[in-house]
Amino acid sequence: HRPLLEVNDLKKHFPIRAGFFGGTTGYVYAVDGVSFHIEKGETLSLVGESGCGKSTVGKALLRLFPPTDGQVVLDGTRIDDMSQGQLRPLRRRMGVIFQDPFSSLNPRMRVRDLLAEPIRNFGLAKSSADLDARIASLIDLVRLPRDSANRWPHEFSGGQRQRICIARALAGEPDLIICDEAVSALDVSVKAQIVNLLQELQQELGLAMLFISHDLAIVEHMTHRVAVMYLGQIVEIAPRRALFGAPKHPYTEALLSAVPVPEPGAGRQRIVLKGDVPSPINPPSGCRFHTRCPYAFDRCRTDVPRLQQTQPGQWAACHLHDLPAEKNPLARSLPA
Ligand code: SF4
Ligand code: MG
Repeated sequence: HRPLLEVNDLKKHFPIRAGFFGGTTGYVYAVDGVSFHIEKGETLSLVGESGCGKSTVGKALLRLFPPTDGQVVLDGTRIDDMSQGQLRPLRRRMGVIFQDPFSSLNPRMRVRDLLAEPIRNFGLAKSSADLDARIASLIDLVRLPRDSANRWPHEFSGGQRQRICIARALAGEPDLIICDEAVSALDVSVKAQIVNLLQELQQELGLAMLFISHDLAIVEHMTHRVAVMYLGQIVEIAPRRALFGAPKHPYTEALLSAVPVPEPGAGRQRIVLKGDVPSPINPPSGCRFHTRCPYAFDRCRTDVPRLQQTQPGQWAACHLHDLPAEKNPLARSLPA
């Protein structure tokens, strides 16, 4: 068995330069040793506060810049060390949808040209009739009216424009779609429609998704698994139900406590974290979360916690799980 995507110990460190001619004075440890996999047809959500490195993971996978270290394996082929030329034939296997459907569409191109562009770039159209057929089928896939092809981006609402972006992302018949805050800029009702569309497309096309989002309320409804990032690292990764029902990392617990719940009273006790997220230039020693963790103890300041499996498929990087259950506030598990 091999997953569609495997990411091993991915790092992206951005050098900080002192002035125009100065040397490197340090690094921003934006992504600092991230590992996960995504199965065919699976959605993995990557969550965390802004600046935690989740978008950098997506961009490194797309090779918008080369990773500093680590391996990325797509369907058995290692792609992290490929040149842009070697990557070309593989590009179409990963689609991407960004946050802002207003700036990601060229306003001077009609929808048909916006869709023709990636189809041509990937060399997929066998003839002009085939090109037209592909454009029509992409428009159908995202449930826009057929006559959309001859219209301009400004004629569409935000949600419709995001549908056009999704159609573009699907033009190469990808196996994996990377959604970076793909619904964050949309109105609440439109968010749900776009999330539903993504889920339907996933079923129809067997797509895998990396869903990068700071919005746990959205994630809770649509993901198979969740990875939580803090200061460039994954602190917990788990199936949806386990993560939302019985989180095993104090940071996950705090993030969940801020998610609004439909029934009042059923809410989780709100945990307000002290302080700000520390700088990724000088991350704290030991557990990077120790400066804000309500449960921090001596060891947390010196020892780096490693991800350990606490339940089947649920991994957390926290020293609490080395304590006896009665001393571990996160020992509780979901009923099977
Ligand atoms: Fe908190 Fe310590 Fe666990 Fe880090 S290792 S999350 S500081 S209890
Ligand atoms: Mg981001």
